[in-house]
Amino acid sequence: MEITAPRGTRDIMFEEARLWQRAEEALRQLADLYGYSEIRTPIFEHTELFVRGVGEATDIVEKEMYTFSDRGGRSITLRPENTAPVMRAFVEHNMGAKAQPTKLFYFGPMFRYERPQAGRFRQFHQMGIEYTGSASPMADAEVIRFSLDYFKMLGIKQVKVHLNSIGCPDCRPRYKEALKDAYRPNLESLCESCKKRFEVNPLRLLDCKSPECRAIVPDPPEVEDFLCGDCLEHFTKLKGCLKALGVEYVKDPRLVRGLDYYTKTTFEFTSEGLGSQDAIGGGGRYDGLVQEVGGAPTPSVGVACGMERLITVARAQGGLEVDSAKPVAYLAGLGEAGTAKAMELAFKLREDGLAAEFDTIGRSLKAQMKYADKLGARFVAIIGDEEIAKGVAVVKDMAEGNQLEVRFDDLAQHVQRAVRP
Ligand code: AMP
Repeated sequence: MEITAPRGTRDIMFEEARLWQRAEEALRQLADLYGYSEIRTPIFEHTELFVRGVGEATDIVEKEMYTFSDRGGRSITLRPENTAPVMRAFVEHNMGAKAQPTKLFYFGPMFRYERPQAGRFRQFHQMGIEYTGSASPMADAEVIRFSLDYFKMLGIKQVKVHLNSIGCPDCRPRYKEALKDAYRPNLESLCESCKKRFEVNPLRLLDCKSPECRAIVPDPPEVEDFLCGDCLEHFTKLKGCLKALGVEYVKDPRLVRGLDYYTKTTFEFTSEGLGSQDAIGGGGRYDGLVQEVGGAPTPSVGVACGMERLITVARAQGGLEVDSAKPVAYLAGLGEAGTAKAMELAFKLREDGLAAEFDTIGRSLKAQMKYADKLGARFVAIIGDEEIAKGVAVVKDMAEGNQLEVRFDDLAQHVQRAVRP
């Protein structure tokens, strides 16, 4: 029986793989401009990191992790997100001892056992940045603006920025109580998930998608009315920074995001044309996380964006285009000696940095010409016994339509001149 890729995973290949390379290049370019350096953390971590860092009461930890015991009996988890791992690395390498802030970016696969659908996979990729060591709303604004600049580089237009503040451990408890008070009279009518949320994570009552639950408490109390002085000032200043940077946003009082570690700012980016999975990225401030994974209290803010969704939108909007790689020269050999010479010359051209291809599957000359055309080769150099005797190849310029004899030794120069005048 044929073995297929596991459900929720996909192969990225050919032209799409080149699009991904482009998107990665764009990220590196932007990261250099903004001063973020790359971090590559392991694909798997100790399960405890996510239980502590992401939070026990979150969907991710409760039901989406790929967790297994390794052969040494340790509980290991394929990373479902990368902020906790990056902060683990921050603490482990004592990055806080260096001049602050620490600005890091990453790109790589994440794993969540979710129900696969359009735009939702079990192995997907995220790019993200983490701005660690600054409590200033300017850092929040930078992270948001970086994301928007990145979308722009991918040719993505019309991104909506949703913004909220969910307060801090000082003011959030009061808000949670107010929320519970609002939902309590109708507790029995809520969906099963919300009944649980009510007990373990009441903020998440706000992002229940069920229309029935939403109708039960159509106007829940707004968190902004409960923020402490510090959180309110942070939120006000952030809005000012965004205005100064020309970032338009909508306030979204329901935006709490699924993860436990957020404090103060939360934000999300949505784009049209993705159907129900329209979030292309999101993030927020997580001032408590570094401490949670064993470090000194360190304020931080970050973002993560789903690459599959970004690439889908970028393609749909025509912003990300690639040319397929084409050989400059196709070496077409005739007969045994010609075939051997074709191989030798192809490698010579490659040594000179010129993409060259030759036949290894015994095609006829006619079939080689056809194949060279399919590959989009600019030149086809034909080499048979007669050419070998004269030390030349018959070089056809597929763009100009002409043909001339070129000495083997001059071949590289000949094709080089035409492609890099
Ligand atoms: P989160 O870490 O849940 O805040 O997700 C950040 C972004 O990652 C989302 O806005 C999505 O674009 C993307 N994302 C999250 N989960 C998935 C998934 N299962 N499949 C594809 N993309 C995802």
